[in-house]
Amino acid sequence: MINFRYGRATDVVDAVRQIAADPTAKFIAGGTNLIDLMKEDIERPSRLIDITRLPLKSVEATPDGGLRIGALVPNSDLAYHPLVAQRYPMLASAILAGASAQLRNMASTGGNLLQRTRCSYFYDTATPCNKREPGSGCSAIAGLNRGHAILGTSEACIATHPSDMCVVLAALDATVHVAGPMGARAIGMVDFHRLPENTPQRDTNLEPNEIVTAVELPARGFAANWTYLKIRDRLSYAFALVSVAAALELEGDTIKEARLALGGVAHKPWRDPSAEAVLRGQSAERATFARTTDLLLRDARGSGHNAFKIDLARRAIVRALTQAAAGTPQSQSNKKIR
Ligand SMILES: Cc1cc2nc3c(=O)[nH]c(=O)nc-3n(C[C@H](O)[C@H](O)[C@H](O)COP(=O)(O)OP(=O)(O)OC[C@H]3O[C@@H](n4cnc5c(N)ncnc54)[C@H](O)[C@@H]3O)c2cc1C
Ligand code: SF4
Repeated sequence: MINFRYGRATDVVDAVRQIAADPTAKFIAGGTNLIDLMKEDIERPSRLIDITRLPLKSVEATPDGGLRIGALVPNSDLAYHPLVAQRYPMLASAILAGASAQLRNMASTGGNLLQRTRCSYFYDTATPCNKREPGSGCSAIAGLNRGHAILGTSEACIATHPSDMCVVLAALDATVHVAGPMGARAIGMVDFHRLPENTPQRDTNLEPNEIVTAVELPARGFAANWTYLKIRDRLSYAFALVSVAAALELEGDTIKEARLALGGVAHKPWRDPSAEAVLRGQSAERATFARTTDLLLRDARGSGHNAFKIDLARRAIVRALTQAAAGTPQSQSNKKIR
């Protein structure tokens, strides 16, 4: 591990001033990802700016019926917050499907957005990796790529984004609030993370001199018909092979509004408005779900070991929509779906 300096930020303006003054510095929140990356010699910040004492720890209802979540709200507090449990149960479910209780106690909302890929070659400094060292090559494309992406890949990188929380934030149309030297701005969650293209070293559209201050949820929480289905190698403490956030608003058996986002399959939470449009106005039945799934996965491609994910995703999407329609999240549907 290399030597680094450490200091605290006193407020958001001070945090932005400090990061803007030193391009080799990094913010540290819960430290559950950054410290591991430093120990593995992947991140080498010359200075850590501790942001844990900034006043970004509250969850507040917004005047338009939404929710504003401070960037330092721990994942556990967010999942168990009464307003989240009541109005956004899909978000609570996704957070609780991730990591372990101890990690969720430390992990922050902002840090969860900015956690880095779990591609094993990214962690292995003896192997080429375009994300870690641009231009060096991608070891995963012809290597062991069972956990890798099937959608939105490039010739430079086939890594996935590992977060569960972000998949639901994308489905709910959340907004990420950030602050930088030029002031504050808002980034739609679906535009926050990037596809790898030829710059896989950039995971997000956050500028290096900006800080995430909050995540805002719109009023629509889909609290009645939703599921977050996470398929993984073990039942807990494992990243998603495929995950599905499915949310519906129903009038009788007819779908009025639909949201569908996938995790574990791309460099960012995967959402396709055209696949959601197929659901609107249709009856909530397996044939409709299958049509949507075909559209959502039309460009899916395997790279060898991960080809099984295409069929896995297909089954998971239909199952998730079936559970959401029946109002039986993450469980066997007990309502008859034609
Ligand atoms: C063993 C293990 C298993 C895990 N399993 C899962 C899982 O199944 N699902 C899942 O979703 N996650 C999982 N995680 C990841 C975990 O959720 C993340 O490590 C955590 O959310 C990161 O939050 P943090 O506050 O600790 O971030 P840190 O480690 O402090 O920071 C991570 C990055 O975010 C930056 N950062 C932090 N806050 C801000 C901010 N406000 N503005 C700008 N930059 C910021 C830091 O500079 C750093 O680059 C797992 C982690 C571990 C170690
Ligand atoms: S998939 Fe991406 S992160 Fe993994 S080795 Fe290739 S370039 Fe690196």
